[in-house]
Amino acid sequence: MATATSPARKLFSAFKALGLSAPQVRALMPDWWDDEAATDEGGLLELQILLARRLNVSLVSLQSQQPQPAFRSTTQRFKTVHPEGSTQLAVAASIGHGLAQLLASSCASTPLRPPVEADTLRQELLKSGKAVTLDALCEWLWNAGIPVVHVTGWPNGLRRPDAMCVRASGRPVVMVVRKETALAKLAYLVSHEAGHVMSGHLSSDENAVLVDDTLPVDNQRSFFDQDEKQADAYAMNLLGGSTLVASSKKLVGPAYSEMSLAAAALGEAQKAELDAGQVILSWARLTEDWKLANLALRFLKTTEIAPIVINDVAKRHMHHEMLPNDGLDHIFKLTGMDLRGV
Ligand SMILES: [Zn+2]
Repeated sequence: MATATSPARKLFSAFKALGLSAPQVRALMPDWWDDEAATDEGGLLELQILLARRLNVSLVSLQSQQPQPAFRSTTQRFKTVHPEGSTQLAVAASIGHGLAQLLASSCASTPLRPPVEADTLRQELLKSGKAVTLDALCEWLWNAGIPVVHVTGWPNGLRRPDAMCVRASGRPVVMVVRKETALAKLAYLVSHEAGHVMSGHLSSDENAVLVDDTLPVDNQRSFFDQDEKQADAYAMNLLGGSTLVASSKKLVGPAYSEMSLAAAALGEAQKAELDAGQVILSWARLTEDWKLANLALRFLKTTEIAPIVINDVAKRHMHHEMLPNDGLDHIFKLTGMDLRGV
């Protein structure tokens, strides 16, 4: 058992200044890690390297007698309505960086496709499907050289943003963080992040990061800056644009039960190459009856859970042999995808 003054404990505690508690840092270490190992020089160096990679901090900042972890310099933009939350979002960004580096390495052999307009992407997806769905969208992005994952295992007690995108090893990486099981809502989040990527909002700086704290996927306020408006317009066009709005408008008026709303949305969706979940979300934006919309979304639910849909696609596309063992362990910890020994 490590004592309060053990080198490992001291290093974990030093992250407090950045907004992470010692247990939160400790939880990001691999399962095989033993704090005792840091009592010798080689073990301590290993710990410093692991932490530097996983939290995007400079190695040097961890190596003094009194370690003072410092994030590596990045271009960070936090899309938040809570200015006081930006310390936590900086931590979120650092965890995103560590993960994005691994994801980018796992698809290093896939060429990055140049950005496409929302309409083009929609038409491409409709060639092989009846609507723009979460799995098809994730599949398309991976094929275009853009990794997408759901960060299911977000560290406990740490502010969970909705989503973020990071430029790592020359490619954008999309990470959805929001705890949510509805396919349509996560499809919206992935579409919004795709909007940032395709609109060039991740500057070409290596390590640029954009953290979306809260997106108006349901009963939330609307956007306050130009990039957000642009990313959202992209998402809306991708998911159906004016056709989606017209279809959901047709449903406004009658009183529904959750089942009859779901049935009506399915009917409209089939006529216009739309996803019924998006029709329900669009209906809720018009009527503000989010309670009924959320219940109706449950009626559409198949056995698929949205975060697993995203990560099942990711699993198929990741070249796990390109990653070091501790990287596979880290991916497992944050996403639940077990690629170890695959
Ligand atoms: Zn955004």
